[in-house]
Amino acid sequence: MVVANEMTDENKPKKRKQFVVMIDPGHGGRDTGTPGTKRYKTTEKDIALDVSLALGKMLAKLPNVKVLYTRTADTYPTLSQRAVMTNKKKADLFISIHCNAQPKGKGTAYGSETFVLGLSKNKANLEVAKRENSVIFMEDNYEEVYKGFDPNSPESLISLIILQEEYLDQSIEIASYIQKEFKVTAKRKDRGVKQAGFWVLSKTYMPSVLVELGFLTHKKEEDYLNSKRGKKIMTTSLYNAVKKYIELHSETAYEDDEEVIVEATVSKETLPSRVFKGITFKVQLSASSKKIATKSYNFKGLDQISREKSGGIFRYFYGKTSDYEEIKRLKTVAQNKGYTDCYIVAFKKGKKVPLSQVLNQ
Ligand SMILES: [Zn+2]
Repeated sequence: MVVANEMTDENKPKKRKQFVVMIDPGHGGRDTGTPGTKRYKTTEKDIALDVSLALGKMLAKLPNVKVLYTRTADTYPTLSQRAVMTNKKKADLFISIHCNAQPKGKGTAYGSETFVLGLSKNKANLEVAKRENSVIFMEDNYEEVYKGFDPNSPESLISLIILQEEYLDQSIEIASYIQKEFKVTAKRKDRGVKQAGFWVLSKTYMPSVLVELGFLTHKKEEDYLNSKRGKKIMTTSLYNAVKKYIELHSETAYEDDEEVIVEATVSKETLPSRVFKGITFKVQLSASSKKIATKSYNFKGLDQISREKSGGIFRYFYGKTSDYEEIKRLKTVAQNKGYTDCYIVAFKKGKKVPLSQVLNQ
């Protein structure tokens, strides 16, 4: 009987999807990035490349992780080329690496910060976005490629920002791991996780962050970032943060082909179950700064939608069960409806807990 075969298939070890990290060393070629205090021959592009390549080398040693780069030499891919490349390779995470500069030349600002895409009213955040976006002006046909986007007004990104909101939650998660590492492991001044309108972040369709390692306009920090030791510590910090993120997120990155077959042919009574007492699983569909009614017409026909607000962000969930097998089936349903990047989250007494912790208990 068909059912028996399907059940055997279910017991086969599932093929785990490779976790693809796209590392984007900022600038390159004729675009040097910030020259800093000009005491060094190296500029932002060189430090970004050194740290990016070292980070990739470390990450590539992790099982099931594939590392890709937007550039591996002193070349200049345009922002648009970087985004297209990243989407084409279906990366699971995009990390753009940069160094900061204080625009007015005072040289007093220092510390590390990590950006996710968003609208900012904060002047300093806008300045960083403006500076990183301004490389667009170096492209001959920028008006054609970056239609309607004005690098001097990152707010002109507003319509694109809505597209990235689906990944905002996870972008903030990886950004906060990075900042914590910079603070604890590298002992840098933690300037926090920030939001601003970066063109390159608005065009990548996966969790995406832009890291500013430190200020090259600050003498001491410039010395640190040019030193072998400084680069090594910053690289290790990034590695620790990305590794933690991958560990928590590759859990659910299984190939789901087999599950789809099971759902189509096995009747409900014979489906396996795996109940975790006191745990509620939900499928996170999206995160947004907008409050949306939890009606099925707003969620591609899915019902059982719930909403939760924290830190000014609304998260939207599908399903609610203590049965891990059931939530996996619901995840497949959501994916088939087009929520390809949805993932399973676990709650204990109403508080979000890491899924890996629940499954390993
Ligand atoms: Zn930069």
